[in-house]
Amino acid sequence: MNEFDSERIEFILKQMGYKRENNPGISDLIIINTCAVREKAKNKLYGHLGRYKEYKIKNSSMLICVGGCTAQNLKEQILDDFPFVDIVFGTHNISSLPLIIEKRLKDNKKICSISEEGFDYDLKKFKKTYDFKSYIPISIGCNNFCSYCIVPFVRGKEISIKPELILENIKRLVQTGVAEVTLVGQNVNSYGKDLENIVTFSEILADISEIRGLKRIRFMTSHPKDLSSDLIDIIASRDNIMPHIHLPLQSGSDRILKLMNRHYTRDSFLKLTEQIRKNIDNCAITTDIIVGFPGEEEKDFYDTLDMVQRIRFDRAFTFIYSKREGTKAAEFDDRMSLKMKKYFFKELVDVQNKISFERNQCKIGNRYEVLVEGKGPKGTFEGRLEDSTLVNFEYNENDIIGKFINLKITDAKSFYLKGIKI
Ligand code: SF4
Repeated sequence: MNEFDSERIEFILKQMGYKRENNPGISDLIIINTCAVREKAKNKLYGHLGRYKEYKIKNSSMLICVGGCTAQNLKEQILDDFPFVDIVFGTHNISSLPLIIEKRLKDNKKICSISEEGFDYDLKKFKKTYDFKSYIPISIGCNNFCSYCIVPFVRGKEISIKPELILENIKRLVQTGVAEVTLVGQNVNSYGKDLENIVTFSEILADISEIRGLKRIRFMTSHPKDLSSDLIDIIASRDNIMPHIHLPLQSGSDRILKLMNRHYTRDSFLKLTEQIRKNIDNCAITTDIIVGFPGEEEKDFYDTLDMVQRIRFDRAFTFIYSKREGTKAAEFDDRMSLKMKKYFFKELVDVQNKISFERNQCKIGNRYEVLVEGKGPKGTFEGRLEDSTLVNFEYNENDIIGKFINLKITDAKSFYLKGIKI
């Protein structure tokens, strides 16, 4: 969602006549679009601002703006802590950026523009950054209040975008050459419950998959408590819905899941993953896991590790718990030492990396269709398989970004594959 917002901000600024400049020191305007999920993101913001102060001293007409979830959370405090910041704008105020910037330039007064909620997406005006793929928000906000999470406080309550708007937007993008869309929402599985005429996520997904010319549909994120059998059936039956489900486990301990307010158990999660693997051919299941949640003990951690070993996720994003002020979990007693958390974290990462490696090794020798997404760090190309596994490869043509090509997998690591043209 944050990346999508950055694309929108870039598009809005381009319409105002700005152009992208990657050297902040010589820019007229710097925008920092922040995340707030972890404490580290806030520290990073403060680090960046410390550096940008020097630029502002050298060029007093430069505008420094802070947006995104940390801006929504800290509001005026950012202006108080960093008096050289010109504008703070919230997650619901992106569309108003032209007005906000003009006002700042005209009145020379600092601005903090934060709305607590609202629908701020004019999709018709939005043009994607890539020619061949695009994020499509289908809902914003979240009603779940997982006890560790700050998102409902900074993104507001869940609002579903009307299905006709989503469909119209995707059709328009496909006509301009988009082959892949990623539907985004904090919890796509609860899509449509707030609409006047209720539409389920599997229904809108089925309608989207009918759009002619749309080759790949992805979505994230799925809350396990809301993932329906209908959704599994739709993914299994449509060729252009990609076999990849990101399903955050967070913990494998029932006691911790309860404290996290997640509304599923290890047993129901296990059954869900079995159902997915049984019904959707070669479906990748990826996950998020938190280590060291307040109150977690050794037994809880080994319950999580047990789930990881049983389910054998394709990939996992693992995190040490990060306390977010204002959330319920911030009030819980957190007794586990950081040393212990780091020890468990390493154990989890080692186990999962081995599983990812083994799962990727099974792909060696197979042939896959790959959507080429760009250039890799060493000048090779990068693309993704249908199940979203990253593949690096060399190619004798240059004009292949955004195209589908066929590759044979020759090598596999934990995080990516290597392939050759066939
Ligand atoms: S579902 Fe839970 S973790 Fe995800 S955004 Fe909502 S509150 Fe946060």
